[in-house]
Amino acid sequence: MTSLITSRLSDSGYDFIDEAAIEELLGQAPADLTEIDDIIAKSMAKQPLSVEETARLLSNDSPAAVERIYAAARQLKRDVYGNRIVLFAPLYIGNLCRNDCEYCAFRRSNKQVVRRTLEEEDIRRQVLALEQMGHKRLIVVFGEHPHYDAQFIAECVRHIYSVRSGRGEIRRVNVNAAPMDHRGYEIVKSAGIGTYQIFQETYHHETYRRVHPGVTRKADYLWRLDGVARAIEAECDDVGIGALFGLYDWRFEVLSLVTHALHLQRHYNVGPHTISFPRLRPASGVKLDERYLVGDADFQRLVAVLRLAVPYTGLILTAREPADVRRTVLEFGVSQIDAGSRIELGGYTEAGDAQIMEREQFHLGDVRPLDVVIRELLENDYLPSFCTACYRLGRTGEQFMEFAIPGFIQNLCTPNALTTLLEYLLDHASPETRAAGVAAIARELQRMPEGPRKRQLEERLARIEQGGRDLPF
Ligand code: SAM
Ligand code: SF4
Repeated sequence: MTSLITSRLSDSGYDFIDEAAIEELLGQAPADLTEIDDIIAKSMAKQPLSVEETARLLSNDSPAAVERIYAAARQLKRDVYGNRIVLFAPLYIGNLCRNDCEYCAFRRSNKQVVRRTLEEEDIRRQVLALEQMGHKRLIVVFGEHPHYDAQFIAECVRHIYSVRSGRGEIRRVNVNAAPMDHRGYEIVKSAGIGTYQIFQETYHHETYRRVHPGVTRKADYLWRLDGVARAIEAECDDVGIGALFGLYDWRFEVLSLVTHALHLQRHYNVGPHTISFPRLRPASGVKLDERYLVGDADFQRLVAVLRLAVPYTGLILTAREPADVRRTVLEFGVSQIDAGSRIELGGYTEAGDAQIMEREQFHLGDVRPLDVVIRELLENDYLPSFCTACYRLGRTGEQFMEFAIPGFIQNLCTPNALTTLLEYLLDHASPETRAAGVAAIARELQRMPEGPRKRQLEERLARIEQGGRDLPF
């Protein structure tokens, strides 16, 4: 394949996806229930699984095996993350793109899509709308185009942090954009980005070639596969990986994601902060190849198996999925969701509630307002969190910090979830959501052991009631 890439790969930059080995693992006879139980026991002890063990969990389709996996994933999520769900929103900045990804409305050969790059003033309007809703954490999304170089992305991020109104502010900006070279990552890092996310789309080489036709940057599988490793080397050590489910066999993608996570862990002593598992959605001018589309039952299974395989990696479930699927899948190990999302360029102020196909990358499944999603979470005993403390207080990188320090969740995550939730309730919530939230905070306080941390938390909650804001532990 012709490569357009001249920059250097990371020190761990080789093609570590051994397709034949993965296919062989997937071809094995099903594991019996005893073997499944042994592997689950390892996950429950919060040890990451090997690729081989993950393959064994995927090998048995019987209801008995699948039910065991679901029960374990539910439990592990509660043990590791508690009932917190972190909220964020996507902000599409520009859809110019020189790639030609078959599945995406932004591909260069799609003449139907309306091309646009938000100007400074447009971005300000979008950010103000997001702040008014109550968002504190965004992910900015870009097509791949010379216009969207590292400098441009860094400027957008700085601009977003500078937009404030009343009590509204964005405290963390994550990025989903094309892979960069080392220097590029240094530039975006200097703007204070949170996570840098790159999805491999499919780890299957032949499928990758087929869905990324022509001589484009994206057609270079290895440059993309190596993208987050270069980010880590450039000290953007908070990275997210993902696969676009529906392009190839979902089991293959799960094993490849686990391979990727273990590769990073082995070479950099830090795994990905998050894994995303978007499912293919209808998109303008896109004819979906139905062979590998993932049904709801398999989707649920893949999330549960990922939860067990990488106990300490955050799992992100997006509004691509309809509300009922989100409701079900949430309990199997998801730690972050977006809500109130609009993905048309300018969609937070211009598009209203209708989704305009020619203006968006794909069609969203869940466009309920943030307030409604928060209320539902509260009513189902989840704790919505707008916390951005770790990264702002320098607790990144060896993200296993979160788990290595005893009592981390109890002492930091839950208190931060409660303070940021109270800020949301006071500044943005409807009366119904506020009532549900106040009841949830009381419930959580009752669950907390008595001691200095609980007293500090109560004191901070009182300060927030009196107008104090942004008081992270
Ligand atoms: N252009 C950059 C890139 O390709 O890495 C930024 C990301 S793109 C705007 C965000 C992600 O959306 C892609 O990585 C892909 O996984 C996903 N995506 C593209 N088309 C999709 C579709 N039809 N349905 C669901 N997700 C899609
Ligand atoms: Fe461009 Fe990204 Fe869409 Fe591919 S997925 S066409 S690179 S915006």
